[in-house]
Amino acid sequence: DSQVSDMDPNERSWPRQNSLSLREWDIPFDELQIEETIGVGRFGVVYKGNWHGSVAIKMLNMDDMDDKKTLETFKQEVANFRKTRHENLVLFMGACMKPPRLAIVTSLCKGMTLYKHIHVRKEKFNLSRTIRIAQQVCQGMGYLHAREILHKDLKTKNIFYENGKVVITDFGLFSVTKLCQGNRKGDWLTIPKGWLCYLAPEVIRSLKAGNQPDDTDLPFSTASDVYAFGTVWYELLYGEWPFHGQPPEGIIWQVGKGMKQPLTNIQASQDVKDILMACWAYKPVERPHFGNIQSTLLKLPKKRLARSPSHPIHLSRSAES
Ligand code: ATP
Repeated sequence: DSQVSDMDPNERSWPRQNSLSLREWDIPFDELQIEETIGVGRFGVVYKGNWHGSVAIKMLNMDDMDDKKTLETFKQEVANFRKTRHENLVLFMGACMKPPRLAIVTSLCKGMTLYKHIHVRKEKFNLSRTIRIAQQVCQGMGYLHAREILHKDLKTKNIFYENGKVVITDFGLFSVTKLCQGNRKGDWLTIPKGWLCYLAPEVIRSLKAGNQPDDTDLPFSTASDVYAFGTVWYELLYGEWPFHGQPPEGIIWQVGKGMKQPLTNIQASQDVKDILMACWAYKPVERPHFGNIQSTLLKLPKKRLARSPSHPIHLSRSAES
């Protein structure tokens, strides 16, 4: 019975009334009111909708709905989502788990993603705001890791920012996305735009042509999430992606060999750059945990403000070329 098999071993030892079975999170598809399309991602369409208030509905576009493995992977992800309750993580409300209509229902994020703020609107955040954003990302990520959930796809497109508040989305969905239509194409590796620069060297080195990135192939870890955070920190500071404008082959080669985006042209203090270098360490064991990064971030503003109150970081654009 799925009531038992869907539970993780920790839950089994709890009294039955305390356990949250997957069924309690099952939303009948007919109860959802689907409104306009918000956007199209790698694994399907995201709609604005209504289910006891405004929600975001991620419809999954699976290759083979009857495939047992697909459904199991999806259910595993759902089992993970229901463990997440943190103010910097999108609120998981439930899922439609009856094929062919698989969907994830979350709270609707207001505001824009950091990607839009940084890369589309070209906004510049001053150092104290940058630190506040980074701290909230660390809080949400530290919580996920404490619950033994890997994000696997942390990037500025998956971080909403509104009124000073950060909300992280799309955690743990990576293994679902690889099962989706359009993600398996021929004998070459399909690399979504803006994805490579978040991948840790050990993950990059495991990419193979011919088969789509697969969770079981790729060595994702808490340390690979920390590497991705390093790239988010870089974008916040510099307004660009590392290795900007370089072809994917070049990025794969450099990162795989342990080379990093040079920081010589970036006018930021050494302690700000040290965080980048620590998160981008070649060896996963050398990267800090989110708790460590948070403590380091906490020390930054005081140091900085002591030198110059409300000092904005004017980063040189000349490093772009
Ligand atoms: P990728 O598939 O490469 O991760 P993506 O992040 O743009 O790209 P999705 O995560 O599927 O793809 O999101 C599609 C669109 O829906 C994006 O514009 C995203 O910002 C928006 N979106 C996703 N989740 C929510 C949410 N909870 N609230 C509001 N908008 C959302």
